Amino acid sequence: MSDPTNDAGHLTIGGVDSLQLAEQFQTPLYVYDVSAIRDQIRAFKRVFEAQHFNYAVSYASKAFATIAMYQVAKQEACHVDVVSGGELYTAAQADFPMADVSFHGNNKSEKELREALALKVGTIVVDNFYELQLLGHLLAETPERTQNILLRVTPGISAHTHAYISTGQTDSKFGFDVDSGLAFKAAKLALANPQFNLLGIHAHIGSQIFDVAGFIGATQKLANILKDWHEQLDYTPSVLNVGGGFGIAYTKDDDPIPAEDFVEAILKTLRAQNLPFDLPAVWIEPGRSIVGPAGFQLYTVGSSKNVEGLRPYIAIDGGMGDNLRPALYQAEYEAVKADDPNAQPTQDVHLVGKYCESGDILINHAHLPAVQPGDVLAVKSCGAYGYSMASNYNRNPIPAVVFAENGQAKLVVRRQSYADLTQNDLSYD
Ligand SMILES: *Cc1c(COP(=O)(O)O)cnc(C)c1O
Repeated sequence: MSDPTNDAGHLTIGGVDSLQLAEQFQTPLYVYDVSAIRDQIRAFKRVFEAQHFNYAVSYASKAFATIAMYQVAKQEACHVDVVSGGELYTAAQADFPMADVSFHGNNKSEKELREALALKVGTIVVDNFYELQLLGHLLAETPERTQNILLRVTPGISAHTHAYISTGQTDSKFGFDVDSGLAFKAAKLALANPQFNLLGIHAHIGSQIFDVAGFIGATQKLANILKDWHEQLDYTPSVLNVGGGFGIAYTKDDDPIPAEDFVEAILKTLRAQNLPFDLPAVWIEPGRSIVGPAGFQLYTVGSSKNVEGLRPYIAIDGGMGDNLRPALYQAEYEAVKADDPNAQPTQDVHLVGKYCESGDILINHAHLPAVQPGDVLAVKSCGAYGYSMASNYNRNPIPAVVFAENGQAKLVVRRQSYADLTQNDLSYD
């Protein structure tokens, strides 16, 4: 698939010339094509609507959490997941409707749970017995109040993906284990406390999943759990949350099915289970698939190093501080030249960052045309887990974020200044 260009032949993002973005906002720079975000949310919704399911598309905001992103989610009537007090705070700052927030996490602190209760977060996804008890105690302080909860279960299904992003297997830090009976015990405890309104169950089997088989297996297993609870506990769920993890293409070698096709398979599987009660609402939690393909990172080429017989090194003005994924789990990306994105590659290089780590290799095999210092490169599909994992390693400021849509560009996160880097430092003089 060729990249969109304007009359000058330059890569465009959201209809805006990428070279102009680099000039106006400097590099490194995160740029989002906002229409692509909206289109993916709408594509998910269309599947549910076509199949007449009650549903929620809950954007897993850890993939990219900023005020502007929560605002877009709100505009699209999307729910959101948060996994920390900081994400919750950001959503509140964006005036996101708290009833449509689900709060996740395997070790929510008492402080975070209190913040969630004070903000009236719609749903708390309870992960373990400690949390069930802690939340019960906190709710007891206001006996008239109830709280919607889901129980996160580990269905014993492992998605075929990197071990660090696989979460559904029994041996996992997340959720109540099903096979050993812990999930059943949690359901009994939750139902015994009238301050909990147990909506149903949640499972998230992993991330960057390419195969529908894992979701089909998980859906069958979750349906069986609900049947079991219905039979043994006289319980009828209203929500089945099947998580996210729908895989996206990072390079030409990735060939995922459209993210919404996973949902179609899940709904078809659920319908076939002949549940002895009305179909629950199905909630999904896509993160990466909503923001990943919509995001670009712009960098400027600087130094290079050539050793006879070795693949050249070309360095850009960012790296692991603004995109940790290649160093963290050998994630792969593709880069193009912003002034000619469809140019034929003529070289295979190490595209490296400026951070003081040998592992700071952004793209191990970057296939590029000839490039010079000062050229702008665009790395594609980096809208998920890039900005959100950014750090100040080497005291490099975190880059700015720009939203581009319909030919207009808007700064939505300012670039950090050097003063931002020391603003929390205190003197020891
Ligand atoms: C991370 C996460 C998601 C989103 O995963 P993606 O791969 O970004 O779609 C959804 N649900 C939970 C509970 C998560 O932890």
